Amino acid sequence: MKRTVRLATLSLNKGKYDELYSVIKRYTDAKRVFVAHLRQTSLWRLLDRSKSFRDYAKARGLYPEGINVHLIDQAAFDAVDTCIRHIESCFARADIKAKTWRRFTDENERHYAYACLARYSAIGQIMGGGVPEISTVTTSLDARVKIAAYLHRVIRDALGSSWPTVVKARSMSLDSGLYSVADGDTPKGKTRRYVQVVSSTHHKRISLPLSGISRVSGNIRVVLDEEHQRAFIHVIYDVARLPRATGPAIALDWGITEVCTDSSGVHHGKEYGPALRSMTERRNKTDKARNRLHALSKKDAGSKRTKHIARNNLGTKKQQARLRRTKAQLQTISGATIKEVVYGEGNRTRAKKRVPQLPSQRPREIIIEDLSHLQGKAKSKNISRLCSSWARAENQERITVHAYVGGSGMKTVNAAYSSQTCPDPGCGYVHRDNRHGDVFHCRNPDWECNWQGDVDHVAAMNIASRIEDRQINRFTPYRE
Ligand SMILES: [Zn+2]
Repeated sequence: MKRTVRLATLSLNKGKYDELYSVIKRYTDAKRVFVAHLRQTSLWRLLDRSKSFRDYAKARGLYPEGINVHLIDQAAFDAVDTCIRHIESCFARADIKAKTWRRFTDENERHYAYACLARYSAIGQIMGGGVPEISTVTTSLDARVKIAAYLHRVIRDALGSSWPTVVKARSMSLDSGLYSVADGDTPKGKTRRYVQVVSSTHHKRISLPLSGISRVSGNIRVVLDEEHQRAFIHVIYDVARLPRATGPAIALDWGITEVCTDSSGVHHGKEYGPALRSMTERRNKTDKARNRLHALSKKDAGSKRTKHIARNNLGTKKQQARLRRTKAQLQTISGATIKEVVYGEGNRTRAKKRVPQLPSQRPREIIIEDLSHLQGKAKSKNISRLCSSWARAENQERITVHAYVGGSGMKTVNAAYSSQTCPDPGCGYVHRDNRHGDVFHCRNPDWECNWQGDVDHVAAMNIASRIEDRQINRFTPYRE
C-alpha cells in the first residue's frame, strides 16, 4: 500500500517563491502544450508507455528551449498521466466495461472487446475508424468490425467534448534526479532539512526549508501554496505493516460529541465535540450576518455602501481560511484518537518506538458503519449535516489506512437504526421511543426488557452484532 504524505516548507521569501513559481510556470506551459497535443486520438498509441510520448514530443520539437530537459521529461510523463486519468474517469462514469459485457455474450467477443479497452493504442485506432488486431485473441473480422464500431460509439459518447485543461501553474512532479536533500543546523542547534529543487536557471537549485525532518525520496510533487507563500512537498511512502493483530474485535460508532464510541462503551476523543460545535456555531452566526448583508445590498444595489460591503464583508477568503484552520484542528484530534483505537492506549508514540507493540493489544477486526446509510443519523440540529458527513468520511478513510498498518481486518455494516435497536440478543426491539437524546431505554411492549444505557454504546454494540446478521445486510436500504 502506498500513501502520499504532504510536507510543508517554511514560508519562503519573495525572491525564492518567485523563483519557484517561475520554474513551475515553465513546467506547466510545457505540460499544457503536451496535453493539448494528446487530444488527437491518433496519438493515443503513445499513451501505453509514457516514454513513447516523451520521445515523440522531443522529436517533434515540442520541448521549450533553455530549460532542464529532464524537467520537461517529467512534464511529458505528467501530461500522459493527466490524459489517462481523464480517459479512465470518463470510461468509468459511462460504465463502458459493464455495457460492453452486457452487449456481447460470446466469450471470444468479450475477450476481444476487453483487450481493446486495455490498450490505448487499440482505443486510438478505433477512434480513428480502424479495427485493431489483437494477437492473443482470435475473432472473425466480421465480429471485430462489429465490436470496434460499437466501442467507437460508446467511447465517443463517454468522452463528449471534454478534455483536461491545464490552467494554473500550481505544481510540478520531480524524479530523484531533479532534487536533492540536505540537512543544516538552525540557529538553535536543531536540524533543518532542505529539499533542493531544480530551477529555471542552469545549474542552480532552489533550496526549500522543510518545517519537519521527514524522509524525502523517490518521485515527489512540489505544490505551491499561494496564500502562505510556501510550498508543499508530496512524498509517496510505502506503508509497512505490523504483524497481524490478535486482540479482541471492536465495533465503532462515529460520534459528534466524541470521535467515536467502541463496543465496550469507551468514548474516544472527547475534545472533538467542543471543536465541532464551535465550528458550526461560528458558521451559523456568520452565515446569518452575511445573509442580512446580502439582503441589504440587494435593496440598495449599485450604491457606494453596497460596494463597500461586497468588498469588506462578503468576501470568502477569510471564511475559507477559517474553515481550513478548524478542519485542521479536527483532523489533529481525530487522527490521534484513531491511532489510539487501532494501536492501543498510549500507543500514539508508536513512531518513536517508546511503546512495545504487541499484536494482542491491537484489535483483530474493526467493524464500522457503512457510510452510504447516513441520512438517518443526524443526531444534532446544531451540527450541520455537511460538517458531520465530511468528518465521518475523513475518519473512515483514516481508519482504513491505520487498520491496514496495524494489521487489523476491517468490515463495514449497515448502521440503519443502530441507535434505536435494543442490543439485548434476546430482544432486539426497534423503536424510536427507545432513544431519548443520549439515553437508550428499551420500551419493548411485549415484555419488561428495560435495557438501559448510553446511546452511542448501544449503537456500537449493534454494529458489532450486525456482522453476523443476515437480515440487515450492507445493502438494505435505510427505509427498510
Ligand atoms: Zn430490549
